Amino acid sequence: MNDALRHPLFKQIGAIADAKGLQAFVIGGYVRDYFLRRPCTDIDVVVTGSGIDVAETLGRQIGSRVSVFKNFGTAMLRCGKWEVEFVGARKESYRADSRKPIVENGTIEDDQLRRDFTINAMAFSLNGDTFGQLIDPFDGTGDLERLLIRTPCDPDTTFSDDPLRMIRAVRFAAQLGFNIEPETFDAIERNRERISIVSKERIVTELNKILLSPVPSIGFDLFDRCGLLPLIFPELSRLKGVERVGKHAHKDNFVHTLKVLDNIARHTDKLWLRWAALLHDIGKPRTKAYDPKTGWTFHGHEVVGSKMVAAIFRELKLPMNEKMKYVQKLVFLHLRPIILAEDVVTDSAVRRLLFEAGDDIDDLMTLCEADITSANDAKVKRYLQNFELVRVKLREIEEKDRIRNFQPPISGELIMQIYGLKPCRAVGELKSAIKDAILDGVIANDYDQAYAYMERQAAELGLKKIG
Ligand code: ATP
Ligand code: MG
Repeated sequence: MNDALRHPLFKQIGAIADAKGLQAFVIGGYVRDYFLRRPCTDIDVVVTGSGIDVAETLGRQIGSRVSVFKNFGTAMLRCGKWEVEFVGARKESYRADSRKPIVENGTIEDDQLRRDFTINAMAFSLNGDTFGQLIDPFDGTGDLERLLIRTPCDPDTTFSDDPLRMIRAVRFAAQLGFNIEPETFDAIERNRERISIVSKERIVTELNKILLSPVPSIGFDLFDRCGLLPLIFPELSRLKGVERVGKHAHKDNFVHTLKVLDNIARHTDKLWLRWAALLHDIGKPRTKAYDPKTGWTFHGHEVVGSKMVAAIFRELKLPMNEKMKYVQKLVFLHLRPIILAEDVVTDSAVRRLLFEAGDDIDDLMTLCEADITSANDAKVKRYLQNFELVRVKLREIEEKDRIRNFQPPISGELIMQIYGLKPCRAVGELKSAIKDAILDGVIANDYDQAYAYMERQAAELGLKKIG
């Protein structure tokens, strides 16, 4: 018995195909992941005939709703944790200006020929008489053993037909820790300009998978080496390189960024925190300056970088919502805990950081720790120790002052009411004086003390209460 096909669903699909006189196979990711012992709940079924018809019959038998996509000739149904997609075996041919192929009905061999990589082209038969047989015309199992990403057909044709496959090659290399076979890699280099016909949405789906892989730098390093990086992510490409004047050289910010990304990947699976790591120094090329005394500086790169985040998200068709704002905020604040760790840590500096970071303070600390990539071990150790101090201080102050999601206890409306004011500068000044007094520890974070403080400040401004 083939372990991959233990679930009764597979036999059932085979029986339906038998009854209809069709062949049916499980193909692609599910087969690959079975051999790699990776969990996989997406099952792709190919039928030599109508995939929709087989799906609908199965849907009736197991009482499951079938979603049909007529335009694509595909159908999908769920069965417990499984998501099964059905498609008719097809033969594809391509025109130069589009990734949309001309599609005809085909055999299983035709269908395997149109697959992107040998490891994604393996199939298990589901029909009764051949149940569980592996069909592997391109030696996908051999490439799994050799840890190789290789196209089944001529790589130039494969990539020119559908240039998204170049990005997928890099994605699988990063996700699985595989190498791209040299001829396949050379073809990516040759065909890289073809990436321009692929939509940003499809590219970003793959970028997200690279970011979520165990060692994401593998993917970005490959993009760089095959020449795709400047085409799909120019801002990242501009981080590359080292400039030297006399004894002054700065570090290669691309290399540094990839180290930070791998560091953070060891600490979190949060996609958007990984995005923040990728973009944390993105403002450096635009702020780079040279001072003969102090060397290279990148003053304000966190401010410039956080502004660039919105443009990059828009360009890549990433969500322009609170996810983007979160990445922006982390990029903006990414130096603050380091500055804290360098200086004597005052309560007031810690309170201000808590106030600005709010609930994202822990993520910010994770990012900052990942950002320490010095080659000097003693330096790294000292930083990490100081960071522990900052963390302790953050906990103490948060327990004492509850600053994390603090709203100043006296609102602008209340100030206007008390002093009979219309919205004006004095109101804003009073309000921020109260906020500053709390963050600086002059008064406690409480209504009565804030009220008394407001009265003293208002008196100085010559304001009188009404009524
Ligand atoms: P995962 O779902 O883990 O991302 P997968 O291999 O299942 O990996 P899918 O995008 O779900 O990837 O595609 C399913 C299968 O369809 C692949 O295994 C491959 O055989 C085929 N495939 C997907 N995209 C392409 C493409 N652009 N060109 C050729 N074949 C493709
Ligand atoms: Mg899949």
